[in-house]
Amino acid sequence: MGQNFLVDASISRWIADQIVPDDAPLVVEIGPGMGALTEHLIGRPKKLVLIEKDYQLAPELQRRFEGRADVEVIAEDATRIDLRPWFRHGPVKLIGNLPYSVGGEILKHWLTPPTPVSSAVFMLQKEVCDRLAAKCGDDAYGALSLLVQKDWNVEILRIVPPEVFQPRPKVDSAVIRVTPRDPATLPVFDRVLFDRLVRMGFSQRRKQMKNLLPEAPGGWSMLVEALGVSATVRAEELSLEQWIQIARCYENRTTADAGQKASEVFDVVNERNEVTGQLTRGEVHARKLLHRAVHIFVINSRGKIYLHQRSHLKDVSPMKWDSSAAGHLDAGEAYADAAVRELKEEIGIDVPSTELAAQIPAGEHTDHEFVELRLAHHDGPIRCLPEEIATGEWFKPEDIDAWVAARPQDFAKGFVTCWKAWRGVGGEKLEKAHI
Ligand code: SAM
Repeated sequence: MGQNFLVDASISRWIADQIVPDDAPLVVEIGPGMGALTEHLIGRPKKLVLIEKDYQLAPELQRRFEGRADVEVIAEDATRIDLRPWFRHGPVKLIGNLPYSVGGEILKHWLTPPTPVSSAVFMLQKEVCDRLAAKCGDDAYGALSLLVQKDWNVEILRIVPPEVFQPRPKVDSAVIRVTPRDPATLPVFDRVLFDRLVRMGFSQRRKQMKNLLPEAPGGWSMLVEALGVSATVRAEELSLEQWIQIARCYENRTTADAGQKASEVFDVVNERNEVTGQLTRGEVHARKLLHRAVHIFVINSRGKIYLHQRSHLKDVSPMKWDSSAAGHLDAGEAYADAAVRELKEEIGIDVPSTELAAQIPAGEHTDHEFVELRLAHHDGPIRCLPEEIATGEWFKPEDIDAWVAARPQDFAKGFVTCWKAWRGVGGEKLEKAHI
C-alpha cells in the first residue's frame, strides 16, 4: 500500500499550502492515511474529499470527520474511481503524498484528459519526479516526460529526505506541482498517434529511431531534414516540440494550423427556416444572421453518450463541452447529410444514417441556428480530429444531467438546448421534440 506516513508537521503544512486550498470549491486528497496532510487542509477549501483505499484507515477517517459537512471520505481505490461524475463540481485541486507503489497509475488515471483536475501537488519518489519534470538533455528525460508534458507543466518544488517519514523510505522524495499546459503553446496533433510513436521511439534505448518507428510518410531522410537533426538521432535527443512535429508528419500535416475559415459559405435562412441566400461564416456570425446547424448524440450499447470538448482553435465557444459532433450545414446541404459528414470528419465514425430526435427553432439560446438534433448508435473506437476537438469521453446521461444543471457554463450554448430538448426538460418552446 506504499504506507510511508509523514511525521514532520512543518513539511506537511508546507505541502498543503502549495495547492492553495483556501476557499477552493473542491480539494481532493489521495491517500490521506492517518491525516498528516489532511490536518492542514481541513476547513480551508469549501469541500475536502479524502480517497483512502486502506480498509482500516478509511473508516477511522470517516469516524474522525463525521458531522463535518465540508469533508467527505471515500473508501475506494484512487486508481479506479470513476472521474466522470466529478465534472459537475468544477475544477478540482488534487493533492497527495502518493503511495509510491501505484503513484504512476494514480497519475495516469487522474491526469489523462479529459479530467476535472485543474492543478495538482504530489509527493513521490524523487526519481519519478525527475522523470516527470525532465527536459530534453536531462538524464531523466524519457517517454514519461513527454507523455505528461504534452498536457501539463510540471515543476519540482522541493526535495524531501527520508527522515520525515515513518517508516523511512529507502530513497529521497520530492514534491511537484502540475498545472495544465495552455493548448495554444503547441500546434495541434493526434494524441493517440503521439503516444504510440513516443512509446515506440523509447522502447529500446540503444536502437536508432529509424529502426523503431514505422516507415515515415515521405521517407526517413525527409523527416530528419525537416526536424534539422541527423539520420541517426535517438529518441531522447528530441524535444517535445520535435516529437509533436514527428506526430504531425505521420498524420501528413504539411501546413500550419488554420483554425476555422471565416470564408466558409453557409445558407442564410428566414424565421421560417427557408433559405434566403448564402454568406460567409464570418459575416453570418458577425451579423447574427439565422442559419442552420446539426448536433448529433452518439450513443453506445451501454446507453452512454459521447461528448467532446471543443478545441481552443474554435471561433465560437472554444474549450466548451459539446455534443458528440456538431456543425453548420454547408450551402445547399440537408441536415441528415451534414450529420453523416460531421460524424466522419470530427470523430472519425462511419454511419449510413442518423435518426431525427428534435428540431429546435433559432434564437439566442442556439446562437441564431435552426438546429436539428440527430442520434447515431456506435460502439467502435472514436478518432477525434485534433483541430476541432481537444478531448472527449463517454458519459452516463444522469451524469450529464447533473453536470448541465450545476455548471451550464462548461457547455456550448447549442448543446445545452439540445440536451434539454432530448431529456424533455428546460421549458424552451420546441416545435417538435421527441426521443
Ligand atoms: N497522506 C498520508 C501521509 O502523508 O502521512 C499517507 C501517505 S502514504 C505514502 C499513502 C497512502 O495512500 C496510505 O494511506 C495508503 O493506505 C493509501 N493508498 C495506497 N494505495 C491507494 C489507492 N490505490 N487508493 C487510495 N489510497 C491508497
